[in-house]
Amino acid sequence: VSGVSGGSEETNINVVVRCRGRNQREIKENSTVVVQADGVKGKAVGLMLGPNSLSNKSYTFDRVYSPAADQNMVFDDTVKPILDEMLAGYNCTIFAYGQTGTGKTYTMSGDMSETLGMLSGEAGIIPRVLHQLFNKLEIDDREHCVKCSFIELYNEELRDLLSIDESAKLKIYDDASRKGHAGTLVQGMEEKHIKNASEGIKVLQDGSLKRQVAATKCNDLSSRSHTVFTITAYVKKTNDQGVDDFISAGKLNLVDLAGSENIQRSGAENKRAAEAGLINKSLLTLGRVINALVDRNSHIPYRESKLTRLLQDSLGGRTKTCIIATISPAKANLEETISTLDYAFRAK
Ligand code: ADP
Ligand code: MG
Repeated sequence: VSGVSGGSEETNINVVVRCRGRNQREIKENSTVVVQADGVKGKAVGLMLGPNSLSNKSYTFDRVYSPAADQNMVFDDTVKPILDEMLAGYNCTIFAYGQTGTGKTYTMSGDMSETLGMLSGEAGIIPRVLHQLFNKLEIDDREHCVKCSFIELYNEELRDLLSIDESAKLKIYDDASRKGHAGTLVQGMEEKHIKNASEGIKVLQDGSLKRQVAATKCNDLSSRSHTVFTITAYVKKTNDQGVDDFISAGKLNLVDLAGSENIQRSGAENKRAAEAGLINKSLLTLGRVINALVDRNSHIPYRESKLTRLLQDSLGGRTKTCIIATISPAKANLEETISTLDYAFRAK
């Protein structure tokens, strides 16, 4: 039996939307703003679909960030609570979902640089998580061990962004050793032990660079692949009586998904179409897994894609999931924006 949420267990899925400002191209092309968020961090987002207010459409989410919301705001009220869950020993996942060019990578990684150990204001979720995690572990002063891994999924194939062997493909196996919550093992995956935030950021930078190098060789790689940066924290704890040491292990997956436009479009050429089909498989299956969890179905189709197999022990059951849907405010992208908001809304 897989990790299905039952009676007493909660499915904890948070869905937020982030709208960026218009980019240079949208301004130059005079593409009007058709997306309206209420406040900097409200709960509703409105779309202007036609010339008058009768043709407006609005959605509500757990949180909606307008273009005025900065990286710190997103971290503070969306990410921090999930980091606390991870430190309490639960598996958590944060997804960035949206059309290419709407800010998925900006939101997840952003500016990865450090100056004298300080992050830039443009730093995204992963560098901020690493800093906050080690701050907390130092304050708590408990014995701990933190590891991270960084994987790319393209065409239903897993590549290790931390491995020296660039072409090595990773294989996923069912992990029979763990009773209770079913999970998978990735054979041969590098797990780097990190002693501080800077070491984790170095891992993120190096892996991202490898991905970029590959993306320049293969045009669509960056919009068609998913990346999963996983942080696992093992913390030594004591029970209420202050005795019986035990280790709590919490995991946080930070997922920069393939562009959501890949879910519908399939290129003209056969090869492209096949690729799009395969990318569809992980993106579509993720949507179906999340819908099944929200609807509390008894069958969750984890096994139907590599992405959902990889994340199986971190979706459903006693886990926390957050989907950050990123959108453009411009009329030129309205169709994709609607499809992103529909996908995100179904996950609520
Ligand atoms: P994606 O990963 O979804 O394809 P990117 O994260 O690469 O999109 O964003 C595309 C461009 O828009 C980048 O130059 C990025 O810095 C910028 N950008 C995206 N979101 C924001 C935002 N909220 N504020 C400022 N710049 C943004
Ligand atoms: Mg990106």
